[in-house]
Amino acid sequence: MPEPMEKTEALVLRVAPFSRTSHVVTWLTRDHGSLSTVIKGAQRPRSTFLGQYDLFYTCELVFYTRERDGLHIARECAPLDPRAALRRDWRAAACASYACALVGRVVPRGGHISGLYSLLSSGLDALTHGRPRQAFIFWFEIQILSLLGVAPSLTVCPGCGAGLAGPAQGETAFSCVRGGLLCPSCAGRRRSGRSGANASGAAHEAPLSRGALTLLRQWQRFASPDVALRSRCSKQQMLELSGILGMFLSYHLDLLPPGRRIALEMASLRTE
Ligand SMILES: [Zn+2]
Repeated sequence: MPEPMEKTEALVLRVAPFSRTSHVVTWLTRDHGSLSTVIKGAQRPRSTFLGQYDLFYTCELVFYTRERDGLHIARECAPLDPRAALRRDWRAAACASYACALVGRVVPRGGHISGLYSLLSSGLDALTHGRPRQAFIFWFEIQILSLLGVAPSLTVCPGCGAGLAGPAQGETAFSCVRGGLLCPSCAGRRRSGRSGANASGAAHEAPLSRGALTLLRQWQRFASPDVALRSRCSKQQMLELSGILGMFLSYHLDLLPPGRRIALEMASLRTE
């Protein structure tokens, strides 16, 4: 009896050696979430898999669904979009690597998060066609947090429920523990009671300027990366947002992928 197979569109998240001639490829698939396949004989000179997959590729993948030790066996694989530009632009490649690592961090093998496939696919496309900016990284992080259901609250104070939808006034406070932007009165309360039980919460709190808040709100609202690729931010806003989002992501994910700092540095370099 033939073994059951599935065919799906899949993005390459990671390629690792499995034996002298084989690879394990971790994919984010359109229909089955994250999964890993063994590509048998991938590095043999006459392998039909040669050149068919690499980092950041979208492929059509056919795999046997029987899983062994968490691994499926790939039967066929063909590139649908190799995103060749990411192999020539090292700044975009650093951002793409971080995006793939972050996705790998939030979705366990066998896990499925609705909307994640199209987020990563559109993000990699944007990096292929546009100039990478730090704003892209922040936009991607905010969108991932939204898909995980832990998006920062930027229009309602998580402390008391007061509406904060209007234009931000002056400097406000952002709390990772509370889950977003605090109204002046909740922020004041926390500041005045920073000792004792509030001390750990205060460690996850940071001031947020009006300009940085406006950017955060904008990136949270738009599911398309175009707005992030066009955003212009000052160096000070970048530093603020890098700190706040890094802190918020670490709070929810425990550990950030190591490529974040490199991606942010690469994206901030000027080429002109
Ligand atoms: Zn409040």
